[in-house]
Amino acid sequence: MKYTEFEIISRYFQKNQKKDYNEIKGIGDDSALIKIPRNNVLAISTDTLVEGTHFLKNISPQDLAHKTVAVNLSDLAAMGAVPQWTTLSITMPKSDSLWLEKFSSSFFDILNKYNVRLIGGDTNRGPLSVTLSVYGLLNKDDALLRSNANIGDLIYVTGTLGESAAGLFVLKKKLFIKNLNIRNYLIKKHLNPIPRVLEGIAISKIANSAIDISDGLISDLGHILSNSQCGANINLNKIPISKILTDNFQPKYYLDWALNIGEDYELCFTISKKNIKKLNLIKQNFLINFTCIGYITPTEQGFNLFHNKKKIILKKKGFDHFN
Ligand code: ADP
Ligand code: MG
Repeated sequence: MKYTEFEIISRYFQKNQKKDYNEIKGIGDDSALIKIPRNNVLAISTDTLVEGTHFLKNISPQDLAHKTVAVNLSDLAAMGAVPQWTTLSITMPKSDSLWLEKFSSSFFDILNKYNVRLIGGDTNRGPLSVTLSVYGLLNKDDALLRSNANIGDLIYVTGTLGESAAGLFVLKKKLFIKNLNIRNYLIKKHLNPIPRVLEGIAISKIANSAIDISDGLISDLGHILSNSQCGANINLNKIPISKILTDNFQPKYYLDWALNIGEDYELCFTISKKNIKKLNLIKQNFLINFTCIGYITPTEQGFNLFHNKKKIILKKKGFDHFN
């Protein structure tokens, strides 16, 4: 079945959604209208996913929808914002009702999980690409800026790192894993990342700075360091790596995946030592780990990595010697 642009919008995207009192107008007019509650600021973030660049050609519509929402919500999480609304701009080569049905049901599944409402968008014909904008609310003073890390802060990472990269290499046929359970687990970690939304909100009152890990820990923590004009000492033995990776691969592989590839969408944040007790209480509400991997130093001391107590020389691309 082929639909027109307006049929696509009303059939697949204009769903009955729970409204909230700040939403004055959603889909259906020239603009959506939103009221910003007193004492709140709006956190806005946009990410585009293009076929061949951000996802492989054979991705399922369900996985594409999930990944698009997850990577966008991850940016709000890294700010400490509470997600509220989203707009979707979708470009597709043809109007394929089966594809649209699967995309839209997975899209609303994950939106509903996080209480996010679709309030507008745009629908076009062309090579497959999806652009999502997400809008969240937070108190201005709670925003987790990249520029707010302080010397002496402890550096934390949520969850585990490296599995998404392993899953990507499996999909690209660069990594071969015989065990089907492990194979499928790693692929799922890559295709269905979990945005750390509740974790980001929970630490927003006590952490100083945060970023989500999309490009690998080195690059993303590097953004905090350059924006905050700080250095850092990181103990690579503390990087949280799942048992699945440590049991099946050598450190030179999984550390490279964790440090340089990324797409884990975990949070990296810094927090002053005086708030550690509060953080330990917050941790109890979550099933995932919050792991301290190092601390912030003055900028002159640089960005240093230690493995088995030895300093590691950071090469431009990848890591060299983990003996
Ligand atoms: P306009 O021509 O004024 O830009 P459109 O015809 O593009 O309006 O869209 C009509 C309405 O449908 C608008 O409210 C717009 O936000 C919404 N809309 C269009 N495409 C989508 C989409 N993919 N998802 C959600 N809402 C959409
Ligand atoms: Mg339009």
